[in-house]
Amino acid sequence: MDVLILSQDDVERLLTMEACIDVMTAALKATSRGDAVLPLRSMVWKPDKKGLLGLMPAYLDQPRSLGLKVVSVFPGNHGSEYDSHQGAVMLFDTEHGSPLAILDASSITAIRTAAVSGAATRAMAREDAGDLAILGAGVQATTHLEAMKVVRPLRRVRVWSRNAETARRFASTLAARHGLAIEVMPSAQAAVEGADLVCTTTAAREPILEGAWLAPGAHINAVGACFPASRELDTAAVKRARLIVDRRESALNEAGDFLIPKKEGAIRDDHIAAELGEVLLGWAPGRRTPEEVTLFKSLGIAVEDLAAAHYLIEQAKARGVGTSVPLGGRRLAPA
Ligand code: NDP
Repeated sequence: MDVLILSQDDVERLLTMEACIDVMTAALKATSRGDAVLPLRSMVWKPDKKGLLGLMPAYLDQPRSLGLKVVSVFPGNHGSEYDSHQGAVMLFDTEHGSPLAILDASSITAIRTAAVSGAATRAMAREDAGDLAILGAGVQATTHLEAMKVVRPLRRVRVWSRNAETARRFASTLAARHGLAIEVMPSAQAAVEGADLVCTTTAAREPILEGAWLAPGAHINAVGACFPASRELDTAAVKRARLIVDRRESALNEAGDFLIPKKEGAIRDDHIAAELGEVLLGWAPGRRTPEEVTLFKSLGIAVEDLAAAHYLIEQAKARGVGTSVPLGGRRLAPA
C-alpha cells in the first residue's frame, strides 16, 4: 500500500494560516459535538527529564480521520537547529486500517496551535482588539503573530522574552516579514500593560504573566505550559478571567495553569466556562461584556493534528506534492 510522505517544506507550503484556522474551527466544533474519540495523551519521559516522547491518537468523524501524532518534546533544543517538537503525524484509512500518510509534525504543530489560538481570538477577543503582546520569541511566538494578524488588524505589537537577544531577533525578522513595527519590551509587564491581545508562548514552568497587569477586556491565549506542574499565568490571572479550554477532560488532567490555582483553592472545576468548540458552535458565549478578561487555555489535542493532516493530504493530492512510498500492509498468507 502506498503511503504519502509530506515533508516540513511541503507542510509549510500547503498549510496557510487562513486555511488552518478554518480547518481547526471545524475540528473543534466536531469534537465538542461528540464526533471524536480522543483519549488523553500518553508520555514517556527520559529518566533525566530533559525530553519526552508523546503519543496522541484520535478518531475524528468530520473530516473522517484515524491517526496519531508521535512527537518528541525537547525544550533544550531552543536556540539550536532542532525544533523543540519533532515527529510525525500518521493517518490511517478508516475502511481497512491501511496507513495513508506520514507528515512532518514540527510544522503541523507550529501552525495548527497558532491557528487554534486564531480561532479562539476571533471568537473571544473584542472586535476592536489590536494591541498585541507576545510573551516568548520562539516557534509558537512566530506563528502566533501570523495568526493574530489574520484575525484582527494589529495596531501595535510588543514582544518580551527572557533572553533579550532572542526578542530582538524575533522583532527584526518578523517586522520585515509582516511589514509591522514590533517593540521589544524590557519586561513582561511592560509588554502586557494596556494590551488587548496577549499570547503566552514560553516554555516557562513558573508564572510569567500576572493578573494585575491585564487591562479590562483583554483576551489571552495561554499556549506554553502543557503539564500539570507547569504554568505561565499566576492564580490572579486565571481567577479573574472567563476560562475557555480546548478540551475539558484534558484541562482537568493536564493544565497546570488551571490545576495549580485549583489546588490552591482559588477556583473550582466550574471555573472552566466552556470548550472552545462549544463557543464556536454558539452553545456558550465566548465574551459576555467588553470589559471581561477572556482566557483561552490551549494544551493541544490530537484532533487538531488529524484535521490538519487530512486537509494537507487533500491539498497535496490536488497539487501533486509529496512522495509516495510503498510501505506494506499486504497479507502475507494466501487470503
Ligand atoms: P521554542 O523552543 O521555539 O521557544 C521556547 C520559548 O520559551 C522561547 O521564547 C524561550 O525564551 C522561552 N523560555 C524557555 N524557558 C523559559 C523560562 N524558564 N522562562 C521564560 N521563558 C522561557 O518553543 P515553542 O515556541 O515551540 O514552544 C513554546 C511552548 O509552547 C512550549 O512550552 C511548548 O511545549 C508549548 N507548545 C504548546 C502547544 C499547544 O498545543 N498548546 C503546541 C506546541 C508547543 P528565550 O529565547 O528568551 O530563552
